Amino acid sequence: MAQTTIANCSNSSSSIIYSENEDFLHNFDFSSIADLQQVHQEKTLIVLGTIKQVCAEREWYCFTCIRCQQKVVKQILIHHDQSQDKEVFYCNTSSYINKVIYVVHSFKITIIVKDITGSVSLALYDSDAKKLIRKNAQELVHEFYKVGNNEIYPSALNILLKKKMAFKIQITLDNLNNKTEYYAISRITSNNTIIDELEKIMKMDRVKFFTLNATIIIVIDS
Ligand SMILES: [Zn+2]
Repeated sequence: MAQTTIANCSNSSSSIIYSENEDFLHNFDFSSIADLQQVHQEKTLIVLGTIKQVCAEREWYCFTCIRCQQKVVKQILIHHDQSQDKEVFYCNTSSYINKVIYVVHSFKITIIVKDITGSVSLALYDSDAKKLIRKNAQELVHEFYKVGNNEIYPSALNILLKKKMAFKIQITLDNLNNKTEYYAISRITSNNTIIDELEKIMKMDRVKFFTLNATIIIVIDS
């Protein structure tokens, strides 16, 4: 199996690429959205839900290194004449450390995903976002900041709404330590066979849940 590096705004890990089937149906546990709150260890999980909203309170893009597409660190170089303050970026990967690098815009879109048990904020990164939006972040940023635009995010992002998908998400130490319920998506699929299978698991899960929590009434025949 080929070793491929997945690079995006937040995720700098390498991993083996499995087929969608393996990844979504076999390699990781499935969780309802409500049950994510019960997870107390770092974990990769699969959730199934519909994109209800693009979160307007967070930026929909970030900056990444032009060479390696990893996230960058921004610094403001203060000049004694403040009008000449300058933004510079440093790559986070060791090979370019302390070297100023050029950056590109990449998608990091916060979406609200809902299933029958609840809703959750997820971060959708560049490679997956590009596939769904069919534009790159550079183009959209360029179009968006043309004069006279008073929308919060580009209307092109609305193509994400109402999409039912399976999401592979990461519960990180940061989530656990800071009790933040905002998870990074590492893979998505809208493959119907996978969604049908996950829906069956979801139904079975709910039946189990209701059975465990149901009040048992014993009728004594007198
Ligand atoms: Zn870099």
